[in-house]
Amino acid sequence: MKKIGFIGTGIMGAAMAGHLLDAGFEVSVFNRTKEKAEALVRRGAKWCGSPGECASGQDVVITIVGYPKDVEQVYLGKDGILDCAGEGAYVVDMTTSSPILAETIYAAAKERGIHAVDAPVTGGDTGARNATLSILAGGDEADFEALRPVFSAMGKNLVYMGSAGAGQKAKACNQIAIAGALAGACEAYAYAKASGIDVEKVYAAISQGAAGGFQMTNVVRRGLDGDFRPGFMLKHFGKDLAIGTETASAYGTALPVLGMVLHEVRQMEKKGEGNEGTQALLRYYGVM
Ligand code: NAP
Repeated sequence: MKKIGFIGTGIMGAAMAGHLLDAGFEVSVFNRTKEKAEALVRRGAKWCGSPGECASGQDVVITIVGYPKDVEQVYLGKDGILDCAGEGAYVVDMTTSSPILAETIYAAAKERGIHAVDAPVTGGDTGARNATLSILAGGDEADFEALRPVFSAMGKNLVYMGSAGAGQKAKACNQIAIAGALAGACEAYAYAKASGIDVEKVYAAISQGAAGGFQMTNVVRRGLDGDFRPGFMLKHFGKDLAIGTETASAYGTALPVLGMVLHEVRQMEKKGEGNEGTQALLRYYGVM
């Protein structure tokens, strides 16, 4: 496995493709906005003009685009990845997307003799930059094992979850847990402010204890410092929470906290704040 086509060089993908170059893979790249791939091209990646061109002749094709509709377009669209990847190639979607779509892609790929794996990631923009991502994979276990050297260049915690779609289901679990943790932290600071105690002192008091964690010390901290630039955009968080609520009802379970946080995020998107980082939820709660 030497030649990798990489599609989607945004916040996450640019860093991940960079690690693949560092690890010695021959990387070809495509992104909707070409400028976002230019730094990689300067470092030796080959620019391709379309998803199909980027998939053609590769051992592995990796995608980390935005929404399920983008995944659908690049894989199943005319002259897309499945039309152009060679028989025996591995195609790996690392976008946070729908488990149902992952199952569809797996089945369509199998008909063409292509190995498809869904492998969304957690660990945020810092995890992508430091190559410490957790990678949650669904598909055939032998394919996951074959891809281990590629995954190892981008992540530390590589977990095979089960059959096609299982990686996306595990990622949905992650986002469901984050929704509660982030909104809970925002509520704590809203309470601090309303009750007249010092928000910074509350942070110092509670962030190292049982209420601490990634959302508190990485995400909410950025917001309390007035930095709303995205590590993870609210609009993508909304997409993830919608995948969680929609599939939860398909699986016959109800997730009331998730529904509430989704409503809050959608309100912020309506106000034009979707490109801000998730720490901007502090504003919904009137903390900032
Ligand atoms: P991003 O910066 O928007 O990156 C997505 C990239 O994909 C963009 O550069 C976009 O092009 C490109 N793209 C979208 N549709 C495309 C298409 N049809 N063809 C070619 N390129 C396309 O977002 P991100 O933060 O890297 O997140 C990417 C995915 O990873 C999302 O699903 C997100 O939920 C997930 N994720 C993000 C984080 C995080 O902390 N940021 C963590 C874990 C998972 P343009 O430049 O034209 O927009």
